Amino acid sequence: MGLRQRRVRPELSVTTPPGDRIESVRLRRYAVPLAAPVSDAKVATGRQRPLTRIDVLTCEVTTADGLGGLGFSYTTRAGTAAQYAHAAEIGERLLGRDPSDIGRVYDMLLWAGASVGRSGVAIQALAAVDVALWDLKARRAGLPLAKLLGSYRDAVRTYNTSGGYLQAPVEEVKARASESIASGIGGVKIKVGQPDMREDLRRLAAVREHLGADVPLMVDANQQWDRHAALRFGRAVEELGLVWIEEPLDAYDAEGHARLADALDTPIATGEMLSSVAEHVRLIDLRACDIIQPDAPRVGGITPYLKVAALADHAGLQVAPHFVMEIHVHLAAAHPSESWVEHIEWLSPLFDERLTIEDGRMLVPDRPGLGLSVADEAAAWCLDAVEFRAPGR
Ligand SMILES: [Mg+2]
Repeated sequence: MGLRQRRVRPELSVTTPPGDRIESVRLRRYAVPLAAPVSDAKVATGRQRPLTRIDVLTCEVTTADGLGGLGFSYTTRAGTAAQYAHAAEIGERLLGRDPSDIGRVYDMLLWAGASVGRSGVAIQALAAVDVALWDLKARRAGLPLAKLLGSYRDAVRTYNTSGGYLQAPVEEVKARASESIASGIGGVKIKVGQPDMREDLRRLAAVREHLGADVPLMVDANQQWDRHAALRFGRAVEELGLVWIEEPLDAYDAEGHARLADALDTPIATGEMLSSVAEHVRLIDLRACDIIQPDAPRVGGITPYLKVAALADHAGLQVAPHFVMEIHVHLAAAHPSESWVEHIEWLSPLFDERLTIEDGRMLVPDRPGLGLSVADEAAAWCLDAVEFRAPGR
């Protein structure tokens, strides 16, 4: 018996579009200064210097269809030259590729840099490209990135971090916290992890008393405790109703985090320092935290971030992305469970646009893509630039 041919009505048939092509790739790196230096516990323990700037790698892609995408990645303190150099070494391979084939392009770039691995600065260089391709895909669809990915909400809870650093006296931290809440931000995080834990506890108690019991409050030790100190601190603050204790231990001590999360009622958050999907999988497999904190540029872009977020959701962990609110507001809106986006305004001077905060939440921009463009003023902070163009363009 012969197979019956199915007739497809012309109006329902699907034709393969010819596909767009990448015609130019422009890479730039910037040193974006902070308004004032900031210090967390890594500075208090003498491991790092105060942070004075954020180094950003941008990637702008244009196509034969006349579309453009803007992506970026970043480093702090060191690594910007290596990140830029890796992107510049393989950037020319993007020419002629279909920018919609993000998986295929990402795979190609991974193989091009295979000898420098799938974590750290190597994939952070790819992140700028990956983010640009997602931005471009959403712009092509005429949708904000959150809606392209499949949004669950139009705004995400947000908390401020930048006012709670350790160089600021507690009176300044309290004033900045009040400013944040008055501006519509929904919560406040302060830094802890100083060599003298009693000083941390004094500052935390003062801020809690100042804000009252109803304001969501987090603390962040930036990896500066050992397992015993973290447990002691966690037990001492159980009654304060913290939203979470962040990075109590070394970022790679997954077992320690798991034991701490088991021992305490206060949720444990970590993950911002990890720079690959595989490292996050270890946290997830061990249920090492209650809240996982991937950072899209740091794990290699939106493509790997989405893998981490999906695995974490499947395992029942919350996802509260680290820094880079300009990208993460979209990714958090497109995640099944609602957590928090971190409000740090350090990258704002690089872009023309500003995010809107209302009633404790950050609104997802309604512009296509990420909704970002590089400000003209950023030219003053540009350290390096290179452009690749298809022949004849
Ligand atoms: Mg942190």
